[in-house]
Amino acid sequence: MSQQSIDRSRTLFERASAVIPGGVNSPVRAFGAVGGTPRFIDRAEGALLTDVDGNEYVDLIGSWGPMILGHAHPEVLAAVQQAAAKGFSFGTPSETEVLLAEAIIARIDPVDEVRLVSSGTEATMSAIRLARGCTGRPVVVKFAGCYHGHVDALLAEAGSGLATFSLPDSPGVTGASAADTIVLPYNDQDALRAAFAEHGDRIACVITEACPGNMGIVPPRDGFTQLIRALTHEHGALMISDEVMTGFRVSPTGWYGWEFDRGGYPDGPPDLLTFGKVMGGGFPAAAFGGRREVMAHLAPAGPVYQAGTLSGNPVATAAGLTTLRLTEELDVYPVLETAADALRPAIAEALGAAGVPHVIQSANSMFSVFFTDREVVDYADARSQDGAAYSAFFTAMLEQGIHLPPSAFEVWFLSLAHTDAILDRIIAALPAAARAAARVQGAPA
Ligand SMILES: *Cc1c(COP(=O)(O)O)cnc(C)c1O
Repeated sequence: MSQQSIDRSRTLFERASAVIPGGVNSPVRAFGAVGGTPRFIDRAEGALLTDVDGNEYVDLIGSWGPMILGHAHPEVLAAVQQAAAKGFSFGTPSETEVLLAEAIIARIDPVDEVRLVSSGTEATMSAIRLARGCTGRPVVVKFAGCYHGHVDALLAEAGSGLATFSLPDSPGVTGASAADTIVLPYNDQDALRAAFAEHGDRIACVITEACPGNMGIVPPRDGFTQLIRALTHEHGALMISDEVMTGFRVSPTGWYGWEFDRGGYPDGPPDLLTFGKVMGGGFPAAAFGGRREVMAHLAPAGPVYQAGTLSGNPVATAAGLTTLRLTEELDVYPVLETAADALRPAIAEALGAAGVPHVIQSANSMFSVFFTDREVVDYADARSQDGAAYSAFFTAMLEQGIHLPPSAFEVWFLSLAHTDAILDRIIAALPAAARAAARVQGAPA
């Protein structure tokens, strides 16, 4: 183990750190939480990453969700090459935008119209602007531990208790933009009722991750999503379900369709849904959409402004459209379920044998491993896990050629390319990593 040379990654990280803050263009890529040097990836194919030093890794990041077919899928690659050969960006309408919008609407019942954007952040930012514009109200309710991109109003964090207006979580987010955000503990029905009782006539919307995945997977408890829907209806607020991570990943119809089939939403679907990640196929494409009456408020049909130079980009939409088509044609979802079903017990067995407390939580094939000994129902629970144990586990996996997300709060992303042979490589690495985790927490190794 640990014979990897990572000289080139080290050199690049030094150079990067001189010209890019922290050496990375998105904080989750840094190894600050786990220690070590981020690997600079030269190429990726299927389930494998190859770094600039020639080391190969089984990838469990999947670009944080988009790469559901595996990297550089030949049919997506061909679609991208064909689209690029016809020009990169027109700034006028093009056919693939229509096809992608139709593909999303065909799958997601509550969506009559979508607006295409370039990132999940833009999708949620625009959705809350639309909700505020439609309702004429200022306040946004969000849940602690839910991530909706780096929108100012949504970076507000918990810690200030029930239905109190939160303080900014990031310097640079002014008190004014955070002041209209109420942060509540996830899965806390009483807190939600209290917030509406106190501020109901000022609440424009509640935004929630359809099934939270950005604090690790924390599924909504029975009745929680339904209560959001019922209270928003009752008080004339909109419900925004953020499916940037879950959309087209946890099922063909995302978390919404899966929950709907199980009797969720007796009071009707969310008013707005946001999408990203899988629907861009690894390119910058995202969307928000909903009922026609709500979407009609958006410029140029209505007064709420929203725009983008590269929105609906022909290359990105070709990648997204082909990815969505292939998830159906290749019947991806059962493959991911089978892979997750093989991995979860192996992880539990390895950690159990080493005496490392752990809980695995899932949204269908999307799962995460918490280094804690009890069910995680909210952000406070998620934060109580043993970060040192995860760091040791992560590092030992990486040294054995398995690239997990460099954070204990993330999903292990699978793809169509995670075949039995790939899963075997992951499973083979687990016992040593579990023992490494056990050593740092002082449990019997
Ligand atoms: C990733 C993510 C976002 C942000 O998307 P970006 O494309 O990174 O801006 C928003 N919401 C959720 C639920 C996400 O997982």
